[in-house]
Amino acid sequence: MMQIFIPLNFLGFVYREMKGALANIEKMFSILDVKPAIEDASEAASLAVAQGAIEFRDVHFGYNANREILRGVRFTVAPRQKVAIVGASGAGKSTLFKLLFRFYDVNQGSILVDGQDIRNVSQDSLRRAIGVVPQDTVLFNQSILENVRYGRVNASDEDVMEAIRHAQLDTFIQQLPDGVNTMVGERGLKLSGGEKQRVAIARALLKHPPIMVFDEATSSLDSHSEQGILRALQEISREQTTLVIAHRLSTVVDADQILVMDQGRVVEQGSHTELIAAGGHYASLWRMQQRERAMDVEPLAQ
Ligand code: ADP
Ligand code: MG
Repeated sequence: MMQIFIPLNFLGFVYREMKGALANIEKMFSILDVKPAIEDASEAASLAVAQGAIEFRDVHFGYNANREILRGVRFTVAPRQKVAIVGASGAGKSTLFKLLFRFYDVNQGSILVDGQDIRNVSQDSLRRAIGVVPQDTVLFNQSILENVRYGRVNASDEDVMEAIRHAQLDTFIQQLPDGVNTMVGERGLKLSGGEKQRVAIARALLKHPPIMVFDEATSSLDSHSEQGILRALQEISREQTTLVIAHRLSTVVDADQILVMDQGRVVEQGSHTELIAAGGHYASLWRMQQRERAMDVEPLAQ
């Protein structure tokens, strides 16, 4: 039998790239047959998701031993709640999602989904329960239709088209000569940032998992398109637990709970009204963004 050797450092590179991008990692692993660094527990059960409650219990984590990124994060998300996570760039927001997805293990503390420590369940079952719309979407050089279908590989064309409509990709697609069969190019380079985000949103909607996480998923869109998509998402995610890392605070006003992160800790927590009344970190962020809006300037990309 012919054997093909792929240099290990290349696979390491691909793996790091994917971790960085929170890509559709299941698919990539099955192509490359790369062994993930995190191993399943020897008798890992399947995650049983009935409610979609999430708990971070005193989580400490660093990518390197010499620098702690999360420094005792605690919060709970009730089933079907919509929780927004805000805070400056580098505060550790995306890291929370990487840990929830178990791309890395915590150094101390634990993360529970419906009361089950995620280290005790199979990674496959965990990742099936969570849909991610990442900050930087990785697309495969295939058609738009196929890229969306990764959300649920056995979905019918009709279901794929419905997800595309909900992600408000249809008007864009109608302008393309090849429609949904348009190839997206290497890493999706033929699409704009906003279009790629919509593909990722459509993919997550098609997956329809009990838990959805959006990492600044609408940051490349203009405010008008963003509002449209957020309304559609709200409609669809009513039955799901939803975590949103938000860039524009105007998109999180209706969240059940807002967590404000600063330097690896949750420093404030509450509804929009409560946090405004508290007059702390969130309130000053809010005032700053209101001023930017008044001047009709988009907030700086983070
Ligand atoms: P946020 O999403 O709030 O902007 P992140 O969670 O992405 O912040 O990052 C928090 C900190 O962790 C930053 O200082 C960042 O540089 C660092 N960091 C993020 N990813 C890695 C990584 N793969 N390796 C080392 N450091 C990282
Ligand atoms: Mg981030």
